[in-house]
Amino acid sequence: MELSVVDAGSAVELNGAYLRLKDLLGLGDRSLGSASIRRAEWRDPNWIELGLSDGRRVLASSEPASVTRVVRTRGQILTMGAAGELGIRSGGAIVLNGARIDRICDVDEVLPAELANAEEIDLGDRLVTPGLIDPHTHLLFLGQRAEEFGMKAAGKSYLEIHRAGGGILSTVRATRAGSLEALSQAAIANARRLLAAGVTSCEAKSGYALELKGELRMLEALRIADNSQPVDIQRTLLAAHTVPEEFAEASDDYLALICEQLIPAAVATPGLLSACDAYLEQGAFDLQQVRRVFEAARRHRLDLHLHAGQFSDLGGAQLAAEMNALSVDHLEFVSAEGIAALAKTGTTAILLPGAALTCRCPAPPVAELVAAGVPIALGTDFNPGSSMTASLPLMMSLACTMFGLSCELAWRAVTVNAARAIGRPELGRIVAGAPADLVAFDAADYREVPYFLGANLVAAVVKSGQVVIGAQR
Ligand SMILES: [Zn+2]
Repeated sequence: MELSVVDAGSAVELNGAYLRLKDLLGLGDRSLGSASIRRAEWRDPNWIELGLSDGRRVLASSEPASVTRVVRTRGQILTMGAAGELGIRSGGAIVLNGARIDRICDVDEVLPAELANAEEIDLGDRLVTPGLIDPHTHLLFLGQRAEEFGMKAAGKSYLEIHRAGGGILSTVRATRAGSLEALSQAAIANARRLLAAGVTSCEAKSGYALELKGELRMLEALRIADNSQPVDIQRTLLAAHTVPEEFAEASDDYLALICEQLIPAAVATPGLLSACDAYLEQGAFDLQQVRRVFEAARRHRLDLHLHAGQFSDLGGAQLAAEMNALSVDHLEFVSAEGIAALAKTGTTAILLPGAALTCRCPAPPVAELVAAGVPIALGTDFNPGSSMTASLPLMMSLACTMFGLSCELAWRAVTVNAARAIGRPELGRIVAGAPADLVAFDAADYREVPYFLGANLVAAVVKSGQVVIGAQR
């Protein structure tokens, strides 16, 4: 059987099948951490020995797909049908074959004899949904800004906060000073916070170092975090987040650094990142500057995301549509032309209610986006300045109450639509062949999750077929 190491040493290819090391190693104590695979050899027909760059030699099953589990509930299952529906089933037995969903049976169906020894996961009558997907986070940062939050709450002005050393540049200073170890530990801790709220895959951006080595170190820390805990982390370069202090009077020189040095250096490491993002706003980057970054990113085959329309409409939706970006995010301010452009290309609008609440922005034009057929996703925008939250269910609540999104669209926004928005369209559904990522909620009805503001109803999480947060009853 053909066996080779792929993807910067974080996966192996076995007879054409792509096996991520974190699944082979079982997500537990034996996580990959900062190591990569140097070699993979057969020990016997059932086991592969992996030699890791940190000197460890670990055995991995050559048939990770062989563990069969049956997840049973008598409650609702949201399968997320292809036709824009939630695909609600009343109870079911979801058969998992390793990291994939094999089939869905009726809850009391007599299973075939070969499943007699399958491990049973009885979820009682809980609601079972696809693992949630958070398509927009800045989960990697050092330092915190609680003092700044206190000043804002006490009515201090932006200028007073800035003079006291607050604002995004304080996060930049702390993040630049962090070691790879400190950065990866911070990202692991925050990814686990997302997981606790039901997230099994997310997107995460760099953008708090704003210098060549620091941005690469952030992406590397996110790669380590991806390998070290259950949540999959899609990595995005956001060097064009804000202009760093040392380029305050020379933002075009900073852009040259991004386009000519940083993007080529980042893509030189296979598997380090998959997308590029930029912040289009007054005081950050203008349309022409963002276009320049996007053209460089496209030359290196990166997917595109765009922060646009948070405080003003500078034509970001049209640019995102023109360049076939995966998503355009925020959109509190977007014109009818911008919406029409998005509708034509299918670029996803990622709405960020946590940031809208914190920054007291108006609601995005949800009714117009829905009427035009623009796919909507929801993200936490988890970041220390404007959306300090790791709860995607809370974002569903806020989107339903503040933005006027229906409960049904809120569910699609954190599953199938979020999957598309991060370039992982195989995620977000409970169908045969899909990745076995599931969440069970202590809820009898899917509307209870957005309805219960701020409660964590997550009772169990299955990631790649393994129970990573569990509660039997
Ligand atoms: Zn953001």
